Amino acid sequence: MKPAPFNLFRPRSLDEALGLLESYSDEAKVLAGGQSLVPLMNFRLAQPHNLIDLNGVEGLDKITIDDRILTLGAMVRQRDVERSPLIAERLPILREAIEQVAHPAIRNRGTVGGSLVHADPAAELPLLSIALDAIFHLRSSRQSRSVAARDFYQGYLITDIAPDEILVEIDFSLPPVGCGGCCTEIARRHGDFAIVAAAALLDFGRDGSVNFARVALGGVGPAPLRAAAAEEALMGMKAGPELYRRAGDAAGKAVDPPADIHASAAYRRHLTGVLVRRALATAASRVKGRA
Ligand SMILES: Cc1cc2nc3c(=O)[nH]c(=O)nc-3n(C[C@H](O)[C@H](O)[C@H](O)COP(=O)(O)OP(=O)(O)OC[C@H]3O[C@@H](n4cnc5c(N)ncnc54)[C@H](O)[C@@H]3O)c2cc1C
Repeated sequence: MKPAPFNLFRPRSLDEALGLLESYSDEAKVLAGGQSLVPLMNFRLAQPHNLIDLNGVEGLDKITIDDRILTLGAMVRQRDVERSPLIAERLPILREAIEQVAHPAIRNRGTVGGSLVHADPAAELPLLSIALDAIFHLRSSRQSRSVAARDFYQGYLITDIAPDEILVEIDFSLPPVGCGGCCTEIARRHGDFAIVAAAALLDFGRDGSVNFARVALGGVGPAPLRAAAAEEALMGMKAGPELYRRAGDAAGKAVDPPADIHASAAYRRHLTGVLVRRALATAASRVKGRA
């Protein structure tokens, strides 16, 4: 199918884009990589009268990193994250997550901001934003504001972004240096959205007990979430396979996943336990200085 007719605007600056968005408000959508929006328009599930193309807006595609924070401009392509040596070195879990997003052709166009705002509950970038306590920086003609990832995701494809706001950049907090991480998932075919996805970050103290744990899940609810029960089970405990199994079990018990044509709720719950255990074991094997 073809999309319904629309007007296309190509602003060159953020202020121009924000002005257009304010003028057209509910009647407009911003276009980033188009990898989610254009299919929705082609199926006429989305029919914006005005499309504001962010691809010519300067300054939204920067990648910067310091000791504590990785900042990605909203228009950074997923493929650029995947290929960034800085990210590979300091935050390899992000690269591992993005490698599981669709296929290279889609990642060449798809943007970080587009994926975060589209908010598919099984998508890898929203999952990582939850695991890494990301902060989303939003702008409108009225104001600038920042929202924590845990507050940004409010329901199935529902986020805390107003019709006149643009996501400008995202801060991902960096885990401790030497910390191990893993993002893993089960999908029906390579490149499909995950049925369930798990991201884990782990670090140990000198005595071998866990002193840093982050576990996040995608595909088990209307929005990605932190597996608080698993994190609690891990903190302060002696690391090892039995602990990862217990944390996986705790995560599986705590979720209330949906059933759909891809999987039953029981299967998703089972996958949660298995994937959390696997993600933790792999993350542990990647902690610097350990086998
Ligand atoms: C076949 C296929 C398989 C896929 N598989 C996966 C997968 O396995 N995992 C995965 O995570 N994704 C997958 N995707 C989606 C892909 O990652 C998209 O690139 C992503 O969801 C949207 O990014 P985009 O830049 O293309 O955004 P667009 O499609 O341009 O926009 C998506 C939505 O976000 C809004 N938006 C975009 N940027 C901004 C901004 N800066 N501020 C405010 N609003 C904004 C748009 O208005 C729109 O509502 C798949 C897509 C396809 C076509």
